[in-house]
Amino acid sequence: MKWSETGLKTLREVPADTALPSHALLTRGGFIKKLTAGIFTYGPFMVRAIHKFENIVREELNKKNCVEILMPMVQPTELWIQSGRLNIYGELLQKMKNRTGQEFCLGPTHEEVISNYVKNNINSYRDLPFCLYQIQNKFRDEIRPRFGLMRAREFLMKDAYSFDLNEEQAKESYKKMESVYQAIFSRLNIPFRTVKADSGEIGGDLSEEFHILAEHGEDELLFTDSFAANREVCPVYFSQEPTSAFPPHKEKKPEEFSTSGIKTIEQLSRFLSISTDQLVKIIFLSCRIDSDSTQNIAFLLRGSDELNLYKVKKHLKLKEAPLFLTAQEVKKLSGVDPGSCGPIGLSIPIYMDQELKTLSYFVTGANKDHYHIKNVVPERDFKVSGIGDFRYAKPGDKGPDNQVLRSCRGIEVGHIFYLGDKYSKKMNIYYLDQKGNKQPVKMGCYGIGITRTIQAVVEHSHDKNGIIWPKSIAPFLVHICLLNPQDQKTREVANQLYQSLWKKGIDTFLDDRDEKPGVKFKDADLLGFPLRINIGARDRIKGLVELIIRPTGKREKVPTSSTLEKVLSCV
Ligand code: ATP
Ligand code: MG
Repeated sequence: MKWSETGLKTLREVPADTALPSHALLTRGGFIKKLTAGIFTYGPFMVRAIHKFENIVREELNKKNCVEILMPMVQPTELWIQSGRLNIYGELLQKMKNRTGQEFCLGPTHEEVISNYVKNNINSYRDLPFCLYQIQNKFRDEIRPRFGLMRAREFLMKDAYSFDLNEEQAKESYKKMESVYQAIFSRLNIPFRTVKADSGEIGGDLSEEFHILAEHGEDELLFTDSFAANREVCPVYFSQEPTSAFPPHKEKKPEEFSTSGIKTIEQLSRFLSISTDQLVKIIFLSCRIDSDSTQNIAFLLRGSDELNLYKVKKHLKLKEAPLFLTAQEVKKLSGVDPGSCGPIGLSIPIYMDQELKTLSYFVTGANKDHYHIKNVVPERDFKVSGIGDFRYAKPGDKGPDNQVLRSCRGIEVGHIFYLGDKYSKKMNIYYLDQKGNKQPVKMGCYGIGITRTIQAVVEHSHDKNGIIWPKSIAPFLVHICLLNPQDQKTREVANQLYQSLWKKGIDTFLDDRDEKPGVKFKDADLLGFPLRINIGARDRIKGLVELIIRPTGKREKVPTSSTLEKVLSCV
């Protein structure tokens, strides 16, 4: 590809509304162009990076006998009614009607369509197992599309679906896919981590995410040498059984004390000279029970901890995540300012974080404005509806291997999930086993965000001058800067090298624009292809070209005659 053929322009300035370096660099380099919020055109370089990554994905999936198909993007919403997901997906679904009034959505994922596709092909146990995949545009009407391709409304995804006879076989398929993902992301040559993730309504621990590590990643990951989890779901490994009885502290009686002017847990901690982890705070939530009723509940946890709504949702088996009550709602419920609330005298269910068992007596709000109360004992002074792991794990906690958890940030680029018979039962995918009994097929689903991965690679790998592409998905391996395009001899040298590199199968880009060398150098750094060759009139007379390695900036003059061999040894 020659620059003059692309119709492309780069941008000098960092565009507005690009909060991440990767978003800014991809926009400045003409890799992507925003059409409207969350929707992008992929330029010629981006398309090449996409194809390279897609090839890696295809090669690794095909190696493990997964078979490629292509499903429609347009899906009848009645399939979503059948699977029961229409309301769960809600506003994310981009819906539309055709001329007869039939309702459709643009596919955000394809469990429903693939179920429809395989249903009639599976009759007997002999028809299983198999695994299908596709690479296709997905549509999600994200509330806040941002960070370029990271959270887009239209993006490319590889989605795969496995179909197995039973749980054991399905778990093998899951493990196989985990190893495929390891192979795919290893080939990028960018650090990544596999972490435990939300396993949704199915339960169990068969859900893993793959994250590319990046300082500005959306997710916080907690890890030790042998364990890693997304902070959202990371369990707190507490040595005592959550259900064991409280130690009998009966001697001291509750005692109120004035805390006038104290509004926060930090102020209370300073006032009492007690660290926040020795204080107990109360959090009020509203949980949806069914379509027209909600229930308020309260949670107690240490003052230094943060309530994890995912854990609450899971523990209480809620369909939707609970909501925090506003200060006004709390006041209405308890009759006092939120800062003075406590568990004693409340008439709603009260849950406690398991680690409160380490405190002999609690200090809590007194449910009386400007007062707190000490020597509070659960079960003696208020009823406890349940105890569990309700807080976010944090760096410094112990992991399951007893090592201290550390933290880093990551970008979720892949997600694998064991589905069991969640969809097969609803979408009616059954087979007859050897005894002639009808059995639901066990499924798994496996996604990779193709476009998100490419931006995540850029987010991990760039410097102040531009992108530093790993060879694995670099749009081009070699970037020739033709420095004096008006000089015919120099142009010939550049064109010859360009052609011989292509003949050797090396993806080469030629900047043949009528631009000053400085402009070309800046653009070459911005585009960030691994190897640059400067060909100028002055060097050409000496029979030399200049070779520059993008990641290290190392440069050397090489005789024109041996450039081809030199490049072949570098790429
Ligand atoms: P997130 O938690 O980031 O919203 P998700 O868990 O809903 O993502 P999945 O349904 O697991 O996403 O989709 C599979 C993969 O598709 C994700 O791992 C991610 O790489 C990619 N992906 C999901 N949503 C988007 C989006 N809005 N823009 C770009 N890529 C996305
Ligand atoms: Mg996910």
